[in-house]
Amino acid sequence: LAKGVGKATWRRYRNELHTEMVERLALRTSLLEAIDDEQFVLQYQPIVDVSTREVVGVESLLRWQHPERGSLGPAHFIELAEESGAVVSIGAWVLREALQQFASWRAADPDLPLRYVSVNVSPRQFRQPGFVDQVRRALDDAGARPEWLLLEITESLVLHDADQVWADLKELRALGVRIAIDDFGTGYSSLSYLRHMPVDVLKIDKSFIDDILASRQQRALVDAIVTLAHNLDLTVVAEGIEDGAQRELLDLMGCPYGQGYLFSAPLWPSEIPTLLGRTTAVAA
Ligand code: C2E
Ligand code: MG
Ligand code: MG
Ligand code: MG
Repeated sequence: LAKGVGKATWRRYRNELHTEMVERLALRTSLLEAIDDEQFVLQYQPIVDVSTREVVGVESLLRWQHPERGSLGPAHFIELAEESGAVVSIGAWVLREALQQFASWRAADPDLPLRYVSVNVSPRQFRQPGFVDQVRRALDDAGARPEWLLLEITESLVLHDADQVWADLKELRALGVRIAIDDFGTGYSSLSYLRHMPVDVLKIDKSFIDDILASRQQRALVDAIVTLAHNLDLTVVAEGIEDGAQRELLDLMGCPYGQGYLFSAPLWPSEIPTLLGRTTAVAA
């Protein structure tokens, strides 16, 4: 009997695996058409001052409006896009779109308190030859100032292929573009290395923020990162703040900026001016 159950389980498992592979293959193919078919859209999540809750910037977050599968978050396709190389053209689209959107918000309202738009850049996209020029052109074409752009890169990117990557990071910063390390704390940067990294902002990963109330160790770690960043003249953004007690604690620690459902989920572009109280809310 046990053997029979084992076989049935195995068969089901094999079928699931097969379905998964077929789905991945289908997604991979349709990724390439998705740009031309304008199936990608960006949402924007506010980044706020932890103590005043004022919105200071937004992070662009990619969504794929798949014709059959509905709206897909990056978890469903970014890895595939990175593997297949599609992430290079998708990333180029994201950069242009986010800058154009931001420039149009600023043009419509020059007093808008939004200081910057944060754009996620995948390692493969960053490493492509000519990435710095691509950024320069995207800024020019959008009529955007370099200070309006914050590029979020991964810890692993800064640690590997250091020479070319570091040269490009320095060139971008010389332009006036700022650089953030996303999901900080999940990689392996040594603290002494951090002192020399050509970056401006550390985004503390949500997994650290999740436990700051329950775990004294996690709290100590976040506190140490905030202090260290302050002493190295780096800015900090805490990711994934979901409740008021987390916000209070981070505020006490001196963490300047935060992002999370407590303040706002990612929003559609049209919701941003409304959130900032800039236009009268339009009834749905
Ligand atoms: P990330 O850059 O660390 O972005 C934060 C993620 O956490 C977003 O998920 C956001 O919706 C989610 N989030 C924000 N606040 C909260 C919170 O309070 N609670 C919880 N549970 N989640 C929160 P999303 O949009 O699914 O994006 C996932 C990841 O995909 C991003 O992580 C980023 O690494 C990547 N990604 C997003 N857009 C792009 C893009 O345009 N290009 C590339 N290469 N990667 C992107
Ligand atoms: Mg990010
Ligand atoms: Mg992040
Ligand atoms: Mg994260």
